Order: sequence, then C-alpha cells, then structure tokens
Amino acid sequence: MSIASVQRATPSAAAPTSASDLLAPDCSGLNFFAIDAGLRQLLGLYLDPAVRRHLEPHFERLGALAGGRLDELAAIADKNPPVLHARDRQGRDEDWIEYHPAYREMEAIAFGDFQFHAMSHRGGVLGLAAPLPPVAKYAFQYLFVQGEFGLMCPISVTDTSIHLIARYGSDDLKALLLPRMLSGGLASLWKGTQFMTEKAGGSDVGAIETRAHHDGAVWRLFGEKWFCSHTDADVALLLARPEGAASGTRGLALFAMPRRLEDGRRNSYRIVRLKDKLGTRSMASGEIRLEGAVAYPVGNLHNGFKQMLDQVNLSRLSHGVRAAAMMRRCLNEALRAARGRAAFGQPVVNYPLMRRQLMKLMVPTEQALSMVLFAADALTRAGAGSAEAGQLLRFLTPLVKFRACRDNIAVATGAMEVRGGNGYIEEWVTARLVRDAHIGVLWEGTSNIIALDLIGRAVGKVSAHRALAQRLSERLAGAAGVPAAHRRDLGAALDRSIGLAEQVARDPQSEQLSRKAATALYNATSAVLLAHEGVQDPDDARRLLLSRMVLAHRLAVSDPLAADEARWEKQAVDLLLSDEPVPLTEAQSVLSASSWL
Ligand SMILES: Cc1cc2nc3c(=O)[nH]c(=O)nc-3n(C[C@H](O)[C@H](O)[C@H](O)COP(=O)(O)OP(=O)(O)OC[C@H]3O[C@@H](n4cnc5c(N)ncnc54)[C@H](O)[C@@H]3O)c2cc1C
Repeated sequence: MSIASVQRATPSAAAPTSASDLLAPDCSGLNFFAIDAGLRQLLGLYLDPAVRRHLEPHFERLGALAGGRLDELAAIADKNPPVLHARDRQGRDEDWIEYHPAYREMEAIAFGDFQFHAMSHRGGVLGLAAPLPPVAKYAFQYLFVQGEFGLMCPISVTDTSIHLIARYGSDDLKALLLPRMLSGGLASLWKGTQFMTEKAGGSDVGAIETRAHHDGAVWRLFGEKWFCSHTDADVALLLARPEGAASGTRGLALFAMPRRLEDGRRNSYRIVRLKDKLGTRSMASGEIRLEGAVAYPVGNLHNGFKQMLDQVNLSRLSHGVRAAAMMRRCLNEALRAARGRAAFGQPVVNYPLMRRQLMKLMVPTEQALSMVLFAADALTRAGAGSAEAGQLLRFLTPLVKFRACRDNIAVATGAMEVRGGNGYIEEWVTARLVRDAHIGVLWEGTSNIIALDLIGRAVGKVSAHRALAQRLSERLAGAAGVPAAHRRDLGAALDRSIGLAEQVARDPQSEQLSRKAATALYNATSAVLLAHEGVQDPDDARRLLLSRMVLAHRLAVSDPLAADEARWEKQAVDLLLSDEPVPLTEAQSVLSASSWL
C-alpha cells in the first residue's frame, strides 16, 4: 500500500449505492463515544462531575477519531507491519525499524495529541492542571482501542514504565529519564517498554538467564530476550540476574536499559528479528540479544521481581480494559450488521436465534465495562492511600485480566459470524478483531497463570477477596431499587463463588478448579455491579436487566435438555436490543416475572 493511501483508507460508511447492494454497513464513521450509552452512564458514576465536564469534549473527539481516522489508519498499519533493518546505509550495526506512515500518524494522536503516556503522571494534559484519575485514563484507552489495538501496547507500557521509574528509581535516574519519558513533544519523547520473557521462561520468570555484570562503573547485561514488544523503545525495563545472585525470582534485579547512550551511540544490544504474529501486526514484537548493554539499576537490587510486578499488574489491568474495549467494538459491529442485513425478507436482527446470539455478545461486553471501571476506581482510591482499595485492586486486577480477555475471543468470533461470510474477509474489521483478540490470553500471563495468582495468592495468601466481599455487600445494601428476590440471588451467588474460591485456595488437590473459581467470582462480582449501576438512574435501568442475564446465563445451573427460555428473558432481550433507555419501573416489572434461582 502506498503512502498516498494513508489519505484514503477504507470506503466511508456511506449507504449502499444501489438496491442490489445488500451488504450491511459497519461502524466506521460513527462516534464511538456518542454511541456508547453504557460508558457515558458509568462515567457519571465514577468520575468527578467537574473533571467529567471538562473531559467530555475530549472523549467526544477521541470517539470520533476511533470510529474515523484512527480506524482507517489501523486498517492500513495492520496490513503494512513494521520492517526490521539490520544496518544503516553506512553499513553500521544501527538496527532500526521502519513503520508505515499510518502507524506514525497513530503515534502522533496517542503520544502527541492525547499524551496517553503522561496523562496520569503529570498535569497539563488535555488542559487539566492535575494528572487525570485512572478512570479517565482507562476511558480514553477504551475509546482508542476500539479504533486501534496494537499501538495500545507501546502506549500502556510507556505509561507503566514511567510509574515504575517514578516509584523506585533513584533521584539521578528519575532526573535522567522522567523529563524525557513525560515529554509531550514527539521529537523529544522517550518511550518505554518491558522485556521479561526469555526462551527459558515466560510464565516461569525465575528461570531467566540474562546476566548483569557490574564492571566497577556501570552494569552491563548479557543474554537474550525472546518476546520484546515495542522492540525499539527508547528505554526498556528488564529483569536480569546480577552475577552471584540467588537462583529463582529472588535473585532478579530490575534495570532500565536505554536504547542510546548519553553520547548518542547505540547501546550494545541487537534486535535479532521481528516476530511474524497472528495479531497486533501494526506493532513490532521482536527478539533481542544483549551484548554488554549498559543498564541502570532501578530501586533495590534484591527486589527486582517484586518491583516489576507493579508494572505487570498495571499492564494486566490495561489488558482488561483493552479486552472490554474490543468487545464493545465487536458488539457494535454485530448490532450494525444484524440490523443492516436482510435474509428471507427480513433484517436478520428480527430472528429469535440472532437476538439470543446478540445477547450473548452484549452480556460479557457490559460485564467487562463494569469490571474495568470498578477496578479503575479502586486504583484511584488505592493511590490516595486506601488500604482497602489496595486489597480490592490486588484481587480485581487478575480477575479482570483473566475473564475479560477470555470472553473477548468468543465475542470477537461471535461478531464475525453475525456479519456472515464478509466477517471473515480482511476488508472488514471483524477479521482483524478475531486475530487481535487472542493475544489477551497470552501476554502478561496466560489464563492458567493468572487464575493461579488469583486463587492461590490473592485469595489463598492475601485474602484480598475479603475486601471485595465487603464492598459488594455495601453496594447491594445501597441499591434500594434492586428487587428483593434478585438481590437475594445476587447475594447467594456471591457467597457461593467466594466459598468456592476459598475452598480451592485451601485445598492443594483442587488447583485444577482455579479457573472455574475465577470465572464464578468474575460473574458474581459483575452481576452485583450491574445491578447497583442499573438502579442509579430511574430513566435508564438497562444494566439491571443485564445483571439478571448474568445470573441466568453465566451462574445458574442449566439443564441442556430443558426447553426453558422464560418470557421475562424475551422481554429483556427486546428491551436491550431496542437501543432505547429502559425506565427502572419497567425493568423491575420484567424482573418480577423472572423465575428466581
Ligand atoms: C505477541 C506477543 C508479545 C509479547 N510481548 C512480550 C513483551 O513485550 N515482554 C515480555 O516480557 N513478554 C512478552 N510476551 C511473552 C508472553 O508474556 C509469554 O509468552 C507468556 O507469559 C507465556 O510464556 P511462555 O510463552 O514462555 O509460555 P510457557 O510459560 O512455556 O507456558 C506454556 C503453557 O504452559 C502453561 N503453564 C505454565 N505454567 C503452568 C502451571 N504452573 N500450571 C498450569 N499451566 C501452566 C501456560 O498456561 C501455557 O499454556 C509476548 C508474547 C506474545 C505472543
């Protein structure tokens, strides 16, 4: 694709040109903030009203970009992945990565215009004197990802690298790196990344073989890193074992490795090759060989792994946000396709099976939105010093990463199917979404590793679920509009899911049930959140109906041989697919016909 094609990427969402043109429209050209009733409603609950008012035009602008220019650029960048050049034209070993101009333009939107990397670290972004609260940051990520997924990795990992250096770096290191990493100017900006995984171990971080040698003046790194996303970042945070240090994770130290030394020379590591990936193709992931690269220690040399976990956890939360965002895009695409496509003389959205299929996409999408904003709120409160919020966050982070990323795959595949054969064709965004969706269950921990962390450590060792149980009980108690029987069922689901998690955490023979326990906790938590959110606005209680759907479809015992779809459920589906607000009284009356669990 030529550079000129950056100007005109995909056809606009124009109406079909003739009566014989029966393809359904997609979402390109829509404003992804304007059409997102769920996000707008929840921002009203979680964001300070003055901050929200101030940011509203920026959400609007990013919503328009995500459905417009960003969407176009993302399609081009996906088809024109980065290329590694081993040397410069003088024959020097100055490896460099060439990006398509479409990718560069997306970087300008992210790092220049919106300054995602800096927005929660310093004031002065988007006209706010103070740093943005995490809820706002993740709302921006949520909108951006609906246009472009791959670039969110470099954005997020720069953001989290800044966090780590600001928290653990020495004064000298902060003075060296932070002004550059927090820069709003693209030319002066130093972007960050994080390299842990080696051939010897991804999940098993303690198996890392990279060696750190102190030559008296500086630390030098030797070894290889096998998965390095945002490969050519200006600063990489990585783990290495100082010579003589203990084996396992205990002996790992954290280092910041600049791409260029202070005299401008390239640091001593080579990008060996780039990966040919299933998804996130716009963004470079490569392998590097460390040949005595200079690196600065970050924080306590004996605490490297623990410090790195801060970044890992923030990344995991961002992965949850990305999964939630991609599901929203998938759902919107599916709804538009189903409403715009006719078969057997009717729009396919009218058919009962299609309506049930759409509902199966809507429920996990809305669950994920509730969960990520709840977690972002806990992050805000933890940052303000709340120990209870810290516990909550410890629990919610793996919970959201685990389930939302898994749900994303099913939702992406479902959205593809709703568009029919065209959904499989690369001209339509659904094909890319299916490819991109799968990475969420791999990076920053596979599903097994995350479930083990959640049940084995967050529940078993830290008892972080206690904070959750307490907070959700308060939510339920404060949600007067939730019908009593539904409230009772929610309470029972929560108690049982916590009981299961505790039992699995206690009994080493039950480890194989960790994923089941994590899924139950996610579903019970999100059902309570949806119910609470659903009764806050008497004019729009759609989330109360969704809460019941979660119980009915994701937590209730279901008999595969029963013909049991209830009338309330059909009513709820009709209301939810109408795209209109549902008054609380109407939602309550639908639920009153629901057969209680
Ligand atoms: C596109 C892409 C980009 C990436 N970018 C980066 C990056 O920038 N930086 C970085 O550090 N890493 C990166 N990664 C690496 C990623 O984090 C690892 O691939 C992941 O953590 C899994 O590690 P592994 O590949 O070594 O798999 P393994 O650890 O070998 O796991 C293999 C399988 O065994 C399972 N398993 C392992 N231990 C257990 C257990 N105790 N119980 C049950 N099952 C278990 C896992 O769930 C998995 O299914 C990237 C990966 C990809 C695909």
